[in-house]
Amino acid sequence: MAGSGAGVLTVDLGAVVANWRNLRAVHGAPCAGVLKADGYGLGAAAVGRALGDAGCRDFFVAHLSEGVALRGAIGAGPMVAVLNGFRPGEDDGAGLTAVMNTPGDVAAWAAAGGEAILHVDTGINRLGLTAAEVEALAGDASALRGLRLRFVMTHLARADEPGEPMNGAQAARFAEARRRLPGAPFSFANSSGIFLGLGFRSDLARPGCALYGINPTPGAPNPMRQVVTLEAPVLQVREIAAGESVGYSATWTAARPSRVATVAAGYADGYLRSLSGRSVAVQRGRPLPLIGRVSMDLLTFDATEHPELRQGDRVTLIGDAEGIRPDDLAARAGTVGYEILTSLGPRYERRYVGG
Ligand SMILES: *Cc1c(COP(=O)(O)O)cnc(C)c1O
Repeated sequence: MAGSGAGVLTVDLGAVVANWRNLRAVHGAPCAGVLKADGYGLGAAAVGRALGDAGCRDFFVAHLSEGVALRGAIGAGPMVAVLNGFRPGEDDGAGLTAVMNTPGDVAAWAAAGGEAILHVDTGINRLGLTAAEVEALAGDASALRGLRLRFVMTHLARADEPGEPMNGAQAARFAEARRRLPGAPFSFANSSGIFLGLGFRSDLARPGCALYGINPTPGAPNPMRQVVTLEAPVLQVREIAAGESVGYSATWTAARPSRVATVAAGYADGYLRSLSGRSVAVQRGRPLPLIGRVSMDLLTFDATEHPELRQGDRVTLIGDAEGIRPDDLAARAGTVGYEILTSLGPRYERRYVGG
């Protein structure tokens, strides 16, 4: 529960919509919105409504429960597809679209009739029919009878590495699978795949991370707008003498008389403990080094160069400034921007602007 004294997470829905339009222009064909894990931690309902208002007609979530909640938020009309799949009737009339990942899924949906998405695995080896299973399906004229394939889809394993031959190999395997199956629209690229060029274009790309400002072209400038700002209040500012330490295990010791600002966020809020000693906050455009261990509910910063900082001031933990973008925090924590965003905790108050 967010409350007074909690951090404030501001989500720029105008930037999400601008990113979606930009992705659609680069793709040169329609783009869905991938809203799994509560819209990568930013709020699937708000993001879904903003994208729906902008004309997005297709959404993907991972879990059935996410699909039911999203349908409630955006209303009837757009496709809401469930990547992890579900069996006929389980969506309780929410009008969700199942992704069929196994021959058993195909059999169940063919028996029920209607429409579903067929997921073909082309090398990531997580979900979807194998090449042999596609072959068996293609050889059985009755297997798909009564079933409309809304899309045939596959998922890239290394789309963020444009030089990787695996991308082209997956494209070739996908083309081969589609040749064997009944004609249907197809869905291919994720965010990074959109930037791989014409061979990765499809009837519906499935961008997720890039909508939320994560760089889909690592190593090259980020073409996306930043979406997230996280600010948290200073709870206390204290003066310590040279030689005193800060935080659990006393991992940081003051080399000079210092000011320490204690801020209301911690690893329980998704500010990863592995960032200890490796990050900064920003206040009035200037960095404050993170010192000591990240603890559950508190962060400590060296505010010696910020004599004006007071209890109640807010510092920026994530924002559109050098060193504190989600991708920057990810690099310092040894992870990816996706994990920084999906870890953002429920104690932050979420504010939506630009919708
Ligand atoms: C998560 C996911 C996406 C979106 O991927 P991004 O890299 O976030 O753009 C697309 N398709 C599938 C199957 C996914 O699981």
